[in-house]
Amino acid sequence: MENKKEMRKWLDDMNLGHPLVVAGPCSAETEEQVLKIAHELKDTDVSYYRAGIWKPRTRPGNFEGVGAIGLKWLQKVKEETGLKTATEVANRAHVDLALEHDVDLLWIGARSTVSPFIVQEIADALEGTDKIVLVKNPVNPDLSLWLGAVERLHSANIEKLGVIHRGFSTYEKTKYRNIPEWQLAIELQTRFPDLPIINDPSHITGKRDMIFDVSQTALDLNFDGLMIETHYDPDNAWSDAAQQVTPKKLVQIMKDLRIRKETDEEAEYKNSLSNLRAQIDVLDNQLIDLLGKRMKVSDGIGELKKQKNVAVLQSNRWNAILGNMILEGEQRGLSEEFILKMFKAIHQESINHQEKIINA
Ligand code: PEP
Ligand code: MN
Repeated sequence: MENKKEMRKWLDDMNLGHPLVVAGPCSAETEEQVLKIAHELKDTDVSYYRAGIWKPRTRPGNFEGVGAIGLKWLQKVKEETGLKTATEVANRAHVDLALEHDVDLLWIGARSTVSPFIVQEIADALEGTDKIVLVKNPVNPDLSLWLGAVERLHSANIEKLGVIHRGFSTYEKTKYRNIPEWQLAIELQTRFPDLPIINDPSHITGKRDMIFDVSQTALDLNFDGLMIETHYDPDNAWSDAAQQVTPKKLVQIMKDLRIRKETDEEAEYKNSLSNLRAQIDVLDNQLIDLLGKRMKVSDGIGELKKQKNVAVLQSNRWNAILGNMILEGEQRGLSEEFILKMFKAIHQESINHQEKIINA
């Protein structure tokens, strides 16, 4: 697949003048719930109304979606509010039912994108459709797998394509539900600048009070739109309660977001930008230089340990370093998460150096 200008035609043709907004509950729960939220989202920036009909739950026993009956409720949403509709499909049966009920936008969920068999099945079922199809990133941070899924749909002659960035699973506990790994989305944008990319801050954060900041970062990175889970009674939602916002809150978020246009033409902007980038380049070189020096010192310690025949890893010393660095970092506005990650990486490199010396 190669980047083509036509990739974004479906989005440009909508002539929105603001980012594309997909909103609605994580799950369709009852007909009243689906319609009530939809009516509250009518006459806002929302163009597509989302509701999960079949829910991919991590463990069995949780609410797994209302199933096909919910598609009738989405049809009612369209009739009563004029909003277009969107839902997740995870196999051929879902696709057939969604198409029968005239769902306008179908997306492939993160747990499906990881499976080439399932993606191919969905692509075959959708062959040649004029519906919009969006691919969520796979749960693991693998750009090829993500793009591979888009390629399968592209090869099935589906033209209205795009991707949804919803973050990645980690074993480590972080402040995110799914860490954004922005660099992956940026790389995808660099390779396919015309492939529409939507951010899903709900599944990235898992918490409603972090949604604004992640949305702002996405817009600053020139994302084309946002998918935000919305419910009139978030705390009592049947799935993803902690991350849903009320329709009123969603409208406020949309109002408060700074929407940047690309302003490359403006000389002043360009000048300041290249100036700041140059500063970053200098600092990055200094960082590399310092890290090189640090490893040299570490090599010296390796020599000593070798003579004395002591272990490379000394946990007490390491914990003391970490504790200090977290405090130092805090004073400079660096998050604990970042300091931990950075020093773990530095420490690992240091261990590798010393091991090389000791085993030489
Ligand atoms: C969802 O959008 O409700 C959902 C299940 O998302 P994901 O596939 O990103 O987990
Ligand atoms: Mn959800």
